[in-house]
Amino acid sequence: MTEPSYVVTPPPRVSVGVRDSSARFPVHRIYCVGRNYAAHAREMGHDPDREPPFFFLKNPDDIVEAGTAVPYPSQTSDLHHEAELVVALGEGGSDIAPEDALSHVYGYAIGLDLTLRDVQAEAKKAARPWATAKAFAASAPIGDIVPASVLGHPASGRLTATVNGQPRQEGDLADMIWSVPEIIAHLSRWFVLAPGDLIFTGTPAGVGGLERGDVVVAEIDGIGSLEVSIR
Ligand code: MN
Repeated sequence: MTEPSYVVTPPPRVSVGVRDSSARFPVHRIYCVGRNYAAHAREMGHDPDREPPFFFLKNPDDIVEAGTAVPYPSQTSDLHHEAELVVALGEGGSDIAPEDALSHVYGYAIGLDLTLRDVQAEAKKAARPWATAKAFAASAPIGDIVPASVLGHPASGRLTATVNGQPRQEGDLADMIWSVPEIIAHLSRWFVLAPGDLIFTGTPAGVGGLERGDVVVAEIDGIGSLEVSIR
């Protein structure tokens, strides 16, 4: 029997480590929330009124785990760090009610929504999508997932990012404009959520540019830290 030449063995699914476990969390999709901290919305030139949350996507293949260096993308001269709480879903669904949302969460991690700020600014000006600014190779560094069965569901916690040891970002999960249950509820009106989905929940103020050789450390109290070097 002749197989069409485009048929290949399926690649292994992308997965992320689970803290203190040999288990892996298989990733389905990556959703991201824009402008979820008032001070960051202001630094990007927006009024942080409580308009509905908006979303964009990255690709599962964009994930890099701790210990993997991120190549500086060739199409930018302004690669930015955005340290964020990442929510990992263990259950999916549509039209999930906010009061039911946390039961869909498998766990939490610290992640970086790496962003080509100059490319994003051009896209905004031209009213074009953000794909090239947000969903490029290695744009989604993420630390180990801490199961909610261990951690609970944190509604507060200090979130920081340093570059080469110098403070850059600081915020608290309590300052999110849209809470995790509200984000899941909104997202599930637009998308059929599935086990394995990751949600980057937005970044606090202090985003800034990275250079080759820089080391970013992002951390959320109680969830862990993630070190990423840029090469
Ligand atoms: Mn972000």
